[in-house]
Amino acid sequence: GGANVVFDTFKSLCEERGINCSVELGHELEHESIGLKKSGCHGYCEVGPLVRIDPAGWFFMRVKPEDCEEIIETSIVGNQPVERLLYQKDGMTCDTQEEIPFYKKQTRLVLSNCGHIDAESIEAYIANGGYKALEQALFDMTPEEICQEMNLAELRGRGGGGFPAGKKWQQVNRQEEKEKYVVCNGDEGDPGAFMDRSLMEGDPHRIIEGMMIAGIATGAQEGYIYVRAEYPLAVIRLKNAIVQAEKYHLLGKGILGTEFNFKIHISQGAGAFVCGEGSALTASIEGNRGMPRVKPPRTVEKGLFGKPTVLNNVETFANVPVILTMTSQAYKQIGIEKNYGTKAFALTGNVNNTGLIEVPMGTTIREVVFDIGGGVRDGRKFKAVQIGGPSGGCLTEQHLDLSLDFDSLVKAGAMIGSGGLVVMDDNTCMVEVARFFMNFTQNESCGKCVPCREGTKAMLHILDRIVAGEGEEEDIDTLLSLEETISETALCGLGKTAGSPVVSTITHFKDEYLAHILDKK
Ligand code: SF4
Repeated sequence: GGANVVFDTFKSLCEERGINCSVELGHELEHESIGLKKSGCHGYCEVGPLVRIDPAGWFFMRVKPEDCEEIIETSIVGNQPVERLLYQKDGMTCDTQEEIPFYKKQTRLVLSNCGHIDAESIEAYIANGGYKALEQALFDMTPEEICQEMNLAELRGRGGGGFPAGKKWQQVNRQEEKEKYVVCNGDEGDPGAFMDRSLMEGDPHRIIEGMMIAGIATGAQEGYIYVRAEYPLAVIRLKNAIVQAEKYHLLGKGILGTEFNFKIHISQGAGAFVCGEGSALTASIEGNRGMPRVKPPRTVEKGLFGKPTVLNNVETFANVPVILTMTSQAYKQIGIEKNYGTKAFALTGNVNNTGLIEVPMGTTIREVVFDIGGGVRDGRKFKAVQIGGPSGGCLTEQHLDLSLDFDSLVKAGAMIGSGGLVVMDDNTCMVEVARFFMNFTQNESCGKCVPCREGTKAMLHILDRIVAGEGEEEDIDTLLSLEETISETALCGLGKTAGSPVVSTITHFKDEYLAHILDKK
């Protein structure tokens, strides 16, 4: 809303002053002419709406419609930054985006275009190196070499599980079936997570390029992007990107004059959290009810329409062009052993700088919360951070120096999940947090199997009772044993991990459960 109003104000003011604001990329800027573009998300949500003036790199924050006149006068006509709209803290002023502490500690590989290029322009994507990796995959590499490059980079699926993407691709590549599919999971459903959304809205061509490279590597000729219907802008921008790529012969038949054909369809989900699970997602694309099925067979053998399928999430596909362009060797210079590259997180909750961030794997929670996030809001004390959404767990002050990577988080009782990171201050009731996530999971349980359907209901009921001051001490043991049973017997990941937020809050904040129970409050 706010950014759109600012955009419209710029447009009408430029028109009133006779400034041509429709200059396209690659065209010379003449006197009093600019290219006014809508970008994707810059990531620094806390201080939006944001306006970036290139080539100077000035970065204006909290821009209101009434600021537009001054920006035109001072920056566009006068070629000077509007000081009062720049980042200022403790006597320091940052002219450009890159100097701002929120961005300084980040390594933006997959988000490098988000906020920097016109998200609706294939020309802008190509001008920034886009579709180079596709050319490389088409002309310089065999399918096996592409899979091998993913293996050498040790790219792990960014959707939560961390399964090696290259291995998955190799398994699909080896299937003898002629018909194969590439499916992109854009069904981001964790409360507080918006990484995939920002990527789809801010850099749709990167996802398309990653999927096409997966198609070449596996022999698939068709792809589906499964997007939540609640992400209408992502759907519009992806559709627009597909049309543009077809126009440039980068999608469709005979891509770039070769014999490679690839089509991409958009499939819209209706917002059921369980449709993020692979088999439920493919069932939903097929037009069936989105319910998980028993495995095996695995998706790589019998996935979409019963055919071998590569299924990765948005961020995983966005990493693919990056790896081919920079090489697996250079990619492995970023991150830590067995966890290479970067991870995008949605940083939210009681933190000063909320937003979308991307950091090298292995960055500590402390660096994220305090250096990038600017610390806890209103000067309050840090209490916990919830990582991994309804499948994840809460970590405490003692974990602040823990490395953010797949393996360390699982060892500490949390998980990277898709990358939601919610900071909590000392005012937060951790039993309420556990109840919030259990309520979410209970609502989203598809009901197919009894342990998840009935077990989550029983856990929620107990949590309700404890919060209402009607709990008993034995309730804590009952919660733990219910969680154990559900995690061992539920059919899919949703049920298996449903109790994780409860277990982690009991582990680290048992005193709060006891306070509710014993003080009856
Ligand atoms: Fe459905 Fe829950 Fe069973 Fe998964 S574990 S299939 S969400 S009932």
